[in-house]
Amino acid sequence: MRQRRLDRTDGLCEMCDAEGLTTLATVVDHIVPLAKGGQDVDANTRNLCDRHHAEVTSEQFGRAAPKAKGVDRNGWPTDASHPWNQPEPT
Ligand SMILES: [Zn+2]
Repeated sequence: MRQRRLDRTDGLCEMCDAEGLTTLATVVDHIVPLAKGGQDVDANTRNLCDRHHAEVTSEQFGRAAPKAKGVDRNGWPTDASHPWNQPEPT
């Protein structure tokens, strides 16, 4: 299955290809990681070289939450500096 997936891009890294580079893919990466509920299907894979695999992996798992801006379950901003989290003017 891995070989079949690699053959899809002639064994080349898709992200390098997008940059105009030609690099042999070494990893079949899951676009949505299995650990995050991604499906183990061809449509959820891409062929990457070591460098790009390291890049996307650190994006997905590395630079996580502390600085992330977003909202909590109630739709309230989690960023403490957000105007909604400032004291009401008196
Ligand atoms: Zn690459």
